[in-house]
Amino acid sequence: CEARVTPLSQRDTDGAEVLLTIHDVTKLVRMERMRADFVANASHELRTPLSSLLGFVETLMGPARDDAEARERFLPVMLEQGQRMQRLVEDLLSLSRIEMNEHSAPTDVVPIPDLVRRIANGLELKAEAKGCTLAVDLDPALPPVWGDADQLSQVFQNLLDNAVKYGRAGTPVTVTGGVVAQGPASMPGSRRGPCLHVAVRDHGEGIAREHLPRLTERFYRVDRARSRQMGGTGLGLAIAKHVLTRHRGALVPESMVGEGSTFNVYLPLASDTLAIAPPPEAGS
Ligand code: ADP
Repeated sequence: CEARVTPLSQRDTDGAEVLLTIHDVTKLVRMERMRADFVANASHELRTPLSSLLGFVETLMGPARDDAEARERFLPVMLEQGQRMQRLVEDLLSLSRIEMNEHSAPTDVVPIPDLVRRIANGLELKAEAKGCTLAVDLDPALPPVWGDADQLSQVFQNLLDNAVKYGRAGTPVTVTGGVVAQGPASMPGSRRGPCLHVAVRDHGEGIAREHLPRLTERFYRVDRARSRQMGGTGLGLAIAKHVLTRHRGALVPESMVGEGSTFNVYLPLASDTLAIAPPPEAGS
């Protein structure tokens, strides 16, 4: 526990009366540290591709100025580094936007099966290139949730993309779901009513148990080199967690090394009006 002491009044130097207030600032100090770590990590993540990009530019402007073969070789790498920086900046902006409206309740009625199917269609080519099938088995008649459609798209985009990325070549990725009577204990709010449950499952290498609680930390990766090589920013699950927190939902990863992983999403139903504020036209 850390404390800061603020003297409120000091009558005189003879020690006649001294009034002190003691504030427990453990949480504040932890948040300050997290923020400083985040800025350091983000800067480091950006510096690596930036240094590499500048190195190539200097080479192409200097010793390799007239070397057509070097240009052919370096330009695609430079493009890749630029794209990596772009993805990182986009994810950082997403996180900050989500944080800014974290306390306002989302007000769209979102049909999740539709949304997931659209995202799966967009990832079909990527899955095919790996010899994976992407099967969405969600009843279109599942009840909708109150949500922010763009943010929820980001959640499922990140989860499905990870499942394809980290799934083993030639194995299926499946999305299943339904209504459950109650969300998991990690769901915020005192009332955990009926929820929509969506499970994104892959048959990849899986994740060792000790990593599971840390997966949603910004820039946390089980295998840094592998994530980078696959074009990951290390922010996808942090974004998913923040979005689901705003929706009063939860993300629960399960995994067995060698067997694959399942990322479970829980969202309160739109009909569960106490779990999340109703939209304005519903009259509250
Ligand atoms: P990244 O951009 O690195 O994929 P994420 O935040 O999406 O970042 O995921 C964090 C880390 O969690 C990944 O680097 C990876 O180590 C692990 N991870 C996420 N999804 C899976 C999965 N389906 N299978 C195995 N590992 C995963």
